[in-house]
Amino acid sequence: MSKQPNILFIMADDHASKAISCYGAGINQTPNIDRIANEGMRFDHCYVTNSICTPSRAAILTGTYNHVNGVSTLDTPIDNRLPNVAKHLRTGGYQTAIVGKWHLGEGKASEPTGFDYWSVLPGQGDYFDPLMIEMGQEVEVPGYATDIITDKSIEWLDKRDPSKPFFLMCHHKAPHREWEPHPKNRSLYQDDIDIPETFDDDYKNRAKAAAEAKMRIKDDMTYADLGLVQPEGGAEVGERATVHSPRRKIPNPRDVSKLRLIDKDTGEIFTFRTSEELSRFKYQRYLKRYLRTIHSIDESVGRVLDYLDEHGLADNTLVIYTSDQGFFLGEHGWFDKRFMYEESFQMPFVARFPNEIEQGRVCKNVVCNVDFAATFLDAAGLTIPSYMQGKSFRSLLNGTETEHWPDIAYHRYWMHRDRDHNAYSHYGIRNQRYKLIYWYNEGYDLPGTNHGGEDREWELFDCEKDPLELFNVYANTEYQQVVADMKSLLNKKMAEIGDEPEH
Ligand code: CA
Repeated sequence: MSKQPNILFIMADDHASKAISCYGAGINQTPNIDRIANEGMRFDHCYVTNSICTPSRAAILTGTYNHVNGVSTLDTPIDNRLPNVAKHLRTGGYQTAIVGKWHLGEGKASEPTGFDYWSVLPGQGDYFDPLMIEMGQEVEVPGYATDIITDKSIEWLDKRDPSKPFFLMCHHKAPHREWEPHPKNRSLYQDDIDIPETFDDDYKNRAKAAAEAKMRIKDDMTYADLGLVQPEGGAEVGERATVHSPRRKIPNPRDVSKLRLIDKDTGEIFTFRTSEELSRFKYQRYLKRYLRTIHSIDESVGRVLDYLDEHGLADNTLVIYTSDQGFFLGEHGWFDKRFMYEESFQMPFVARFPNEIEQGRVCKNVVCNVDFAATFLDAAGLTIPSYMQGKSFRSLLNGTETEHWPDIAYHRYWMHRDRDHNAYSHYGIRNQRYKLIYWYNEGYDLPGTNHGGEDREWELFDCEKDPLELFNVYANTEYQQVVADMKSLLNKKMAEIGDEPEH
């Protein structure tokens, strides 16, 4: 029997595939993440089952959907008595560790379990000098979060028992809002970044959820998001920089020429002639700060890959780079996630495992975050427990897949009209060609968010003919057979995983 492989799972927070150069958008360079894809495999259709942090992490850890693991919103912590993939790997002979973002709840009942070593950020964590909870003890660690998470990961690898295989979850905080780059990277990306063609979307031909969401770069970005401060005496007049309320949204006044925005680090003052100019400024500032935080992650990935090379571990280690969900980078005018629209639904996923994966392959099959746990256990040669709902895709990784792969992804977002983003609840299904979304518009045990399911709507997108998802063809005569087929697929999937439809 061959030696059990090591598993190194590197996950960022809110990293859209568009901001990884091997995915081809051309807005930045990530040579180290690309190296994983070039020496292994890139997945173009990996999807999240609920496009927000906490539920995605729960699905990854437990291999179950959120209505089963109970972590359906940002306010539903994990019950750490649940079985998870780390527990199974540990029982199967692995040394296990998690370093970095946890975000599955705080306190004893939801701290990490199944890990021989854990050092995690409480809540969202801080970019600079973060507090960490290390094996139950609070420690303040000086430095930049991405560097610290990398250092601690490498330190753990160094101290581990080399006679056993390892499972390490290295979870970066970056590039999560509020996008604070390392000071040495603050001047990267001087040239303007291309604006997506849907930046000025009018949200016509879509369910009303799109127009109602408060995730617009133009209207909903805060001072803190963009590293700006207000002049003293209010947002529009005055000279001296102060930080009155950094989480306040930057205003978009009728007379934009009165607006003064000040860089919180350099003191540089920005003025605007038109609101169009202001909204383009916000876009550039957002994207550049976001990409600068990713620059540090890419360097970190390089350091860890070098460590594997230097210690002769590369061949027998399955290395993965992914993100807990995708993110809008100006498409439809948005930042943030939550929606089943492609930019936030798709997770980047690249994997390298020289002993099993042929170099430079691209996988077009549909896989989901719920499948990760089963895949790790399969790669480790361990039994996949029957409670896990995901399916191992090891056969896609090693090219032995001969059955008909299901190619179906199910998404459900529960936090109807949450206070900050006003995103509507929905569920739906995607196969390789079509996407069906049901906006059932009802809250889920969230105080003050239950608005009663008014104005329910359906959307169908033809992902081949309309990759930007601008035309809901649900009511089009020529798509009625597709609608019926997709509804049947949705019903079948919901029955299979035991989720309750809304009527
Ligand atoms: Ca996230």
